[in-house]
Amino acid sequence: MRNALVIGNWKMNGETAANHTLVASLVESLEVSPVGSVEVGICPPAVYLHSVGLQLEGSVVSLGAQNLSEHNAGAYTGEVSAAMLRDVGCHMVIVGHSERRSLYHEDDEQVAAKTLAALRAGLKPVLCVGETLAQRESGEALDVVARQLCAAVSGLEADEFERLVVAYEPVWAIGTGKTASPEQAQEVHAHIRTVLVRVAGVAGQNVQLLYGGSVNADNAAELFAKPDIDGGLIGGASLKANDFIAICRAA
Ligand code: 13P
Repeated sequence: MRNALVIGNWKMNGETAANHTLVASLVESLEVSPVGSVEVGICPPAVYLHSVGLQLEGSVVSLGAQNLSEHNAGAYTGEVSAAMLRDVGCHMVIVGHSERRSLYHEDDEQVAAKTLAALRAGLKPVLCVGETLAQRESGEALDVVARQLCAAVSGLEADEFERLVVAYEPVWAIGTGKTASPEQAQEVHAHIRTVLVRVAGVAGQNVQLLYGGSVNADNAAELFAKPDIDGGLIGGASLKANDFIAICRAA
């Protein structure tokens, strides 16, 4: 049985005072009216991880990062290691987000190395996969997603799948207001599940699969009702306390 999971990806948004207000609203709402077995996480920009982490202490909300280095330590100016993320209280880290792949040229090989670095440090990697509009229109969506997935997970040990999370984020649905229909998303999620079971056996059944791409308070419940959609990776709507809380409650 997989718990539902909702993660907020703040991307490059926020500042100290606004973060404090947003996190306080979220924590208070979940304290007053808990969401049961739904797991909730937020991923602020790296510079705010420490302060947001302190504010989350004792709450049910987990801290996550948006990126990490595939290297352990050393001369990598500007980079942040998995051990550093653990040190400031992170439980999870987003890996291979399409913005990292397209804007910062992260390829499948680097995403695989980052996934491994996260796992080996005890973090939960939230591995993002997803096709572009052109790839969907040419009928390649399932193949693209399977290729991205296999590149990152085929070298993992069986027990490492227990901490893996996969997020399907079609590039054409990110920040565009165009959501994949629940049926389109479920089709890809079912394919991801099949690939995971092929690679990892029963452990593949337990991997939480999130949908991301223009999820909001109005469309979340319908998406999360699908059998292989275990929750969401939320961008824009995670910056508004009421919207994000409503999405958590829909899971
Ligand atoms: P939006 O929810 O803003 O479309 O962003 C989705 C996303 O990229 C989350 O990682």
